[in-house]
Amino acid sequence: MHEMHACMLEMNPSSVTARRTSRRRATPLARVPSHVVVVVMTSSSSAKKTRYNKLETLGEGTFGVVYKASDALNPTNPFVAIKKIRLGKAKEGINFTAIREIKLLRELHHPHVVPLVDVFSKKRNLHLVFEFASGGDLEMIIKDSSIDLTIADVKSYLKMSLEAIAFCHQNWILHRDVKPNNLLVHSSGALKLADFGLARAFGSPERENGREYTRAVFARWYRAPELLLGAKRYGPKVDSWAVGMVFAELMLRKPFCPGSSDIDQLTKIYHVLGTPTEEEWEGCAALPDWMNFPRETKMDLKKIFGVEVGGKSGPGGKPSSANVEAIDLLEKLLKYDPGKRISCQEALKHAYFNTAPAPTEIEKLPKRKVNIEKNKNDGGNIAADGEDEAKRAANKRARTDGDDDEEEEEEEVTKKRLRGTHPTATDEAKEGLKAKTKRMRSMFEDEAAK
Ligand code: AMP
Repeated sequence: MHEMHACMLEMNPSSVTARRTSRRRATPLARVPSHVVVVVMTSSSSAKKTRYNKLETLGEGTFGVVYKASDALNPTNPFVAIKKIRLGKAKEGINFTAIREIKLLRELHHPHVVPLVDVFSKKRNLHLVFEFASGGDLEMIIKDSSIDLTIADVKSYLKMSLEAIAFCHQNWILHRDVKPNNLLVHSSGALKLADFGLARAFGSPERENGREYTRAVFARWYRAPELLLGAKRYGPKVDSWAVGMVFAELMLRKPFCPGSSDIDQLTKIYHVLGTPTEEEWEGCAALPDWMNFPRETKMDLKKIFGVEVGGKSGPGGKPSSANVEAIDLLEKLLKYDPGKRISCQEALKHAYFNTAPAPTEIEKLPKRKVNIEKNKNDGGNIAADGEDEAKRAANKRARTDGDDDEEEEEEEVTKKRLRGTHPTATDEAKEGLKAKTKRMRSMFEDEAAK
């Protein structure tokens, strides 16, 4: 038996045409006109209830809580990660995030994109079942002070991230939520790009026909300056900026520009990269939220990242995990003008990747010790160190499977606790999606009335 959920899914004609130019076969879904009814087939929940056994809470994504579960039908990969997304009450319309994520992930198959293995519904929730990443995520690696990251390790992580994002762009998809905790670490050590809840299809500017996108995307620390300044027309270079910020964070072992508000974010960016000028970024002063900031000059990034200049070393007195080529690539990823900013595809051809040391082989990348020790004891639970106290408390509560209302209450508590540790996509994004759901619902009703 299948249960069906009929949902409106936004598709714009330009992206559809653009997709046809890709080498992939256009799916029937990609041929539909401007807006369509998409039927998501989900398997019977009762069968899934016996197949997947919920173990603990792993974390909170932008729009749903993620659990670890055992998979009774797959002895080779006995664990999965299940993202539970509330579909919303019928009168509130349908939550788009899940539909968007399912649609995009069903089409994207790449060694560095997390595979969606199953989808099922239970009560008012849609459950997205993913391959389990037992190594945690890149944020955990960055924060783990027992791990030393060499230039070669950072190069390997950056290469895998760029390959995943470049693949999305080749398939006309913007990720729009690149950040360390959306880069999961597989047991092999391979990175896998996750959380496509804010992703969307894009087309060339001509084909987009002046179409505006929401600016409420990305966690603030990874948000490109054009978004912070209110641009509504943007492209894949927003992901280049975010990956640049992740690259900086890998080398510094702390966020590069951790703003506490949008203005503070711009202040922090301008402090290190200098205040943008019309000469370097034509048209910046015409952006909707442009503000005049006190003039700052660009700092020497080689010094910030401890590249051997006058005998200086990296953060905490350890050898720097940056080198001259790394700084050159970083500056290209963090160019103010999106037109001058390097694309993820071009970045992979940068001298950084063709000069010694070579990127660390995936299986030789450092592993989290806590993780390995805990794996031995409990069969592979994501470990928690001091910084993950909130997650550990939430995990304990989540072990017992209650009814949906109890779970929802528990999720709220988990969300509140987890929010304190690392920024998730903004409330603006959630508000934006709520508004979009409302608009789509009324379009759906108009269509039905015709
Ligand atoms: P997401 O909604 O995809 O951002 O997931 C939120 C958090 O749940 C991530 O930051 C991870 O810590 C964890 N998580 C998500 N997917 C997986 C997975 N496939 N395997 C292990 N942990 C995951």
